[in-house]
Amino acid sequence: MKKINDIELFEETKHWILEDKLGIDFAVNILIQDNIIKKSQYNEYYKKIDNLYKNYYKKTYSDVKKCPKCKEGYLLKKKGRYGYFKACDRFPFCNFTEKI
Ligand SMILES: [Zn+2]
Repeated sequence: MKKINDIELFEETKHWILEDKLGIDFAVNILIQDNIIKKSQYNEYYKKIDNLYKNYYKKTYSDVKKCPKCKEGYLLKKKGRYGYFKACDRFPFCNFTEKI
């Protein structure tokens, strides 16, 4: 089992989280399956990944909240036909939206 730093952790998981929108739980489970982390480290890595992506989004979006529906995604400000709103970044897997 090799040590994985935050940069590697972000690189390793961004495909699943940012592109495939599979969520943090999925990403952590794959890391366990691939023997990158231990099963007992689930909570620790869930929090780590959660913070990595929260910080990643904070660079672009000032306040980043967790999605109350799927509890995996983050609510990001989007511009729609009728103005701004917040939507879960896991769309189309989660369709939660919120008025601003
Ligand atoms: Zn969601």
